[in-house]
Amino acid sequence: MRVLLIGPPGSGKGTQAARIKDKVGIPHISSGDMLREAVAKDTPLGQKAHDYMSQGRLVPDDLVIEIILVRISQPDASTGFLLDGFPRTPPQAAALKKALTPHGFNIDHVIKIEVPDSVIIGRTTGRRIDPVTNKIYHSEFNPPPPEIAARVIQREDDEEVTLRKRLAKYHKDTQQVTDYYEQRGLLHIVNGVGKLEEVQQRIFSVIGLS
Ligand code: ADP
Ligand code: ADP
Repeated sequence: MRVLLIGPPGSGKGTQAARIKDKVGIPHISSGDMLREAVAKDTPLGQKAHDYMSQGRLVPDDLVIEIILVRISQPDASTGFLLDGFPRTPPQAAALKKALTPHGFNIDHVIKIEVPDSVIIGRTTGRRIDPVTNKIYHSEFNPPPPEIAARVIQREDDEEVTLRKRLAKYHKDTQQVTDYYEQRGLLHIVNGVGKLEEVQQRIFSVIGLS
């Protein structure tokens, strides 16, 4: 199963992708996580991407397309994947299609998680990441267990000013990508407001899981 997750920062893409991954066993591939890892390791890609990311701007298409196409061609992604945060632009969507088609592969579902900006602010300011497992928590809505509470960290770009820029950019950029998939009959819009389990249930029913 090949699934794309679209949604504003803080809409729950990473949280829900982890749940689908547990159920179906396909890898969760997050362009944001891959780019943050490249920055942390100070690779050539990370050096090029860092300034864009810290300003809440999109990293240029050619850089992102390359890392994602290399990643989805790895053996663990041969039966499917969950792409989170990619494609974000029409050229990225076109590059993905061009890479899959020769192998007879398609995107099965595109899920757009909708959450109003007012809710997003509370989610992202409370977001905490476990640097050891990369698991996502929330200080209030999904608190980390006591034994790891001391080591969780906040993302640099979850600061409110940067976040507002990312949200504005998200709204501006997403329309074209969602139109692209809507025209192909693949787009499902899911309400992302509610408990984690409620949102999970909505997504599972859309992609035919129980
Ligand atoms: P969130 O999930 O919080 O929306 P991400 O973790 O997906 O944010 O992305 C963090 C940053 O990484 C983005 O602000 C952007 O700079 C960069 N990025 C991630 N995915 C892409 C992409 N597909 N195209 C361009 N830049 C990207
Ligand atoms: P994204 O990957 O879209 O940026 P995350 O999955 O990282 O979003 O979620 C952002 C924050 O909101 C995290 O702290 C997460 O624990 C929390 N969160 C996710 N889904 C919900 C929900 N349905 N209700 C409340 N908090 C949520």
